Amino acid sequence: MDIRHWTERAVDAVADWQAEWGGYRRHPSLDVDPDALAERLDELARRLTGNYPFFHPRYAGQMLKPPHPVAVVGYLAAMLVNPNNHALDGGPPTAEMEQEAVAALARMFGFGTHLGHLTSGGTVANLEALFVARETHPGRAVAFCAESHYTHARMCHLLGVRTRVVPPDARGRIDLDALAAVLAAGDVGTVVVTTGTTGLGAVDPVHEVLPLARAHGARVHVDAAYGGFYTLLAGAPDGLPPEPWRAIADCDSVAVDPHKHGLQPYGCGAVLFRDPSVGRFYRHDSPYTYFTSGALHLGEISLECSRPGAAAAALWLTQQLFPLTARGLGAVLAANLRAAREWARLISESSELTLYQPPELDIVGYFPTLDRPAMTTVDAASAAVLNVGMTEDDPVFLSTMDVGGADMRARHPRVAADADRARVLRSVLMKPESETHVEWLHERVSGLAARASGR
Ligand SMILES: *Cc1c(COP(=O)(O)O)cnc(C)c1O
Repeated sequence: MDIRHWTERAVDAVADWQAEWGGYRRHPSLDVDPDALAERLDELARRLTGNYPFFHPRYAGQMLKPPHPVAVVGYLAAMLVNPNNHALDGGPPTAEMEQEAVAALARMFGFGTHLGHLTSGGTVANLEALFVARETHPGRAVAFCAESHYTHARMCHLLGVRTRVVPPDARGRIDLDALAAVLAAGDVGTVVVTTGTTGLGAVDPVHEVLPLARAHGARVHVDAAYGGFYTLLAGAPDGLPPEPWRAIADCDSVAVDPHKHGLQPYGCGAVLFRDPSVGRFYRHDSPYTYFTSGALHLGEISLECSRPGAAAAALWLTQQLFPLTARGLGAVLAANLRAAREWARLISESSELTLYQPPELDIVGYFPTLDRPAMTTVDAASAAVLNVGMTEDDPVFLSTMDVGGADMRARHPRVAADADRARVLRSVLMKPESETHVEWLHERVSGLAARASGR
C-alpha cells in the first residue's frame, strides 16, 4: 500500500469538505516561511534518524513498531478536522466510530453487554478498571501477580486501595495455590489477571482464577493490554489453548491496547466493563460540555476529558480492513506466534543460546549458554550481546529483562545463585515480518552469544 497516495487522498477528501463552507482567509499570523519550514523539517528528519529501526525485522527488542498505514491515513483524515471525543458535540461522527470500534472489541472478548471507551493507553484503562473496582468493593484489596504490569501497584497507590501481591508459578503466571491462600483471608475485592505479561507474554489461567475469585465474592479484571488481540487465535488451528481466552467473557472488565497489537499509533488503549451500570460511578456534572443530545456522551464514562477523535477514526478504519477475526487481524498475530515458536525451537537445539522459558505468545526470553553459568555471568553475557548487537555492522536490536534468583532457579537450577538478579535477553516478535527473518535472527544472535561466552 502506497502511503503517499492514500494520505493525499485523505487530505483531498477533507479539503473538499472544507471548501463546501465558503471561502475565508487564513490569518497571516499563522503563515510560515517555506524555506524555514524546509530547513527545520530536514532537521527534524535528521533527528528522527536517531531512532532504532522499529519497523525492520532486525529490531527484535521492545514492544515497538510503526502503525499500519491504514491507521495513519485514518488518523490523518480525522486529525485535520480534530474532533474531541469527550462530548458528542466535539465530533459526532468519531464518537460513533469509537462506539462501533469499542463494540467490536467487546464482541471479540465475548461480552454480551458492555460499557467502554478508548483511553490514551493501557495504564489509564487499568486505572479506570481499578477505580470501578474500588467503587464496587469499597475497602477491599486488589490482588495481582508479581509478574503483572507495574501500573497495578502504582494505580492502587494512587487510588488508596490496599494490594496483595501473589507470587508467580515457574512459567511466570499467577500461582493458583498462592492466590487461594490470599483470597482465603477474605479481604480481596478484585483479582487482576494478565493475558500476556509485558515481560514474557505469560497467560494467566483466567478460567481457573475466575471460579476461585467468585467463590470469595471477588471480581476479576483482565489486563489484556499486551495480549488481548491474541484472543482471536483461541482454539484456532496452530493457535492458542482456548480456555483462558474464552473465560474472559465472564470476567468483569478488560484493558486492551490497540496501540500494541491493533496496528495503531500511540495512544490508543481501551477499557471495557461487562456491566454497563458501572457508568454510574463516573457521574459528574460539566456545565459547559454536553449540549446536543440526551444520549450517552463518551466523556461521561471516562476519567480523561479531551480525547482524540482521530484515534477512534484510525481504529475504526483499521477494523474495516483487518476485522477482528482469526483470518483478519488474527493472520498478523499468527505469523508472530509462528516466529516465536520457531525461534524457541532453534534456541532449544542450539549450543550457544538457552531458552529462558517456552514462549506462550510472541515474546522470547533467552540467554547465552555458559559452561558454568551463574547469575553474574549470565547477566554480563546478556548485556554484552545486547550492546555489541546494536553497535556493529549488520546490527540486531534486542532488549533485556531482569529476573530474580528464585525465578531463575525455578527454570534453570544449574545457574549458580551468586547474585539476586540477572538480566536475560528478551525479544518481542510483534511484527509478522519476523517470521521470515527468524533464521537470520538466530544465526546473528547465536554468533554474538558465542563471542560473549568465550566459547
Ligand atoms: C503495556 C502494558 C500496560 C501499560 O499500557 P500503556 O499503554 O503502556 O499505558 C499495562 N499492562 C500490560 C500487561 C502491558 O503490556
